[in-house]
Amino acid sequence: MPKNRYKWKFDEQYWERVAQQPDWYMQLVPYVKKTQESISNVDELANFRKTIGHFFQKLLAEEKLALASEGPDLDAQREPVSSVVIHHTSSAPGYSIDYMNAVHLLNIYAPYYFQPTVPEEMELRGKPIWSGHFKNGKQNFIGYHWLMRMDGSLEHLLDDNQIGWHAGNWSVNKRSVAICLDNNYEKMCPSEQTLEALATHIRKKYPEVKSENIMGHCESSPGTICPGVHFLEEWKPKLIEYLK
Ligand SMILES: [Zn+2]
Repeated sequence: MPKNRYKWKFDEQYWERVAQQPDWYMQLVPYVKKTQESISNVDELANFRKTIGHFFQKLLAEEKLALASEGPDLDAQREPVSSVVIHHTSSAPGYSIDYMNAVHLLNIYAPYYFQPTVPEEMELRGKPIWSGHFKNGKQNFIGYHWLMRMDGSLEHLLDDNQIGWHAGNWSVNKRSVAICLDNNYEKMCPSEQTLEALATHIRKKYPEVKSENIMGHCESSPGTICPGVHFLEEWKPKLIEYLK
């Protein structure tokens, strides 16, 4: 593989030092935004994102990233589950949970702490990041409650009494569970088998959720295409049928 194909270079040693500062994201978020804006090639952009994601996955694994050690109970705002929001990983099947943890930290928590959108939370800016969710003694940043693999098996990533940061809409987050499908549905639909397994899971775990409250991420957060452009017209109606 030819070296230096890209005009950006990610200086790991520099970012390792930055990562030890509680407000590391105050530098990282603008850096990522600026670099992404300078990249026009789709593959190069994907490569840049993967580089950053894997770097932060490693920092989290090695506990070399400054994070808050305490904070408020954000789940105190949890409401009874009345909605299900469907997502996709937008990647080939086999998505790594640890990588997802880093990606959600970078794509959801870091930009929010960089620029809180709720006026009362403005003081979070520059403070160390806190999710209040823990897994195996480590802080967890995953926004989804469930990841459904292509064999129909499910991984429970967040407890149902925890608020996942996934819908791009806090009022939906408070009352919903997020189910993510481990595939890329940007250009294709899930198989009938996958839809049936998804419906079975929803019916079993969330029988109280009305079918009109089963939605795609694109419905709670207009502007995103997750879980793919075919969701609304093609596979959502099928899913609702399977739920009957
Ligand atoms: Zn999504």
